[in-house]
Amino acid sequence: MSHSYTEENYIKAIYKLSANGTQEVNTNAIAEVLETKAASVTDMLRKLSAKDIVNYVKYKGVSLTSEGERVALQIIRKHRLWETFLVEKLKFNWDEVHEVAEELEHISSTLLTRRLDEFLGYPTYDPHGDPIPSETGEIKLKKQQLLAELQVGDEGKVVGVNDSQPLFLQYLDKLGIGLGSHISITDKIPYDNSLEILLNGKKQLLLSSEATRNIFLSA
Ligand SMILES: [Zn+2]
Repeated sequence: MSHSYTEENYIKAIYKLSANGTQEVNTNAIAEVLETKAASVTDMLRKLSAKDIVNYVKYKGVSLTSEGERVALQIIRKHRLWETFLVEKLKFNWDEVHEVAEELEHISSTLLTRRLDEFLGYPTYDPHGDPIPSETGEIKLKKQQLLAELQVGDEGKVVGVNDSQPLFLQYLDKLGIGLGSHISITDKIPYDNSLEILLNGKKQLLLSSEATRNIFLSA
């Protein structure tokens, strides 16, 4: 069964809001993420419920059915494969790919997705370090921790970002931080929890606590 562009965006939003399908989602949260009215959300949830994509009871939360979860994972798979394609083959920078992939992810051809995957050499992570679900929906989860949760003396490689918004990625570019960068924590400022770090063994930097909550280090 195929789904409209809008339906797919709802499915994806519910998947993300429910912490990968494990929790019930509140309709107001969906309205906020999709920047739409609660009434429109209710209409769409009824529609998706009739298609057996979501479990929805009015005034209660909503969750994805197993079919809904399968669809969500395929959209995410396409999104992340396209992001990888854009960075690796078309030389986009990592802060430029999300918006374009938001459009490309809606192309439904399974053959195209399969060929794209093959062309890229079956990548397991996208340019932001997020895992790419397989065709059958399996995800390889990494052992990772937010920089903010680590202590002085801890170190590791950057394996992902929690926030892939262009402004944040541009800020990381400016600092010289990318996937694979080595970070060791040299000091933690108690006043605001900002961190003093040593980047790649040579550059001392101060990171705001906001930034440290958006960088994943290998555990
Ligand atoms: Zn993206």
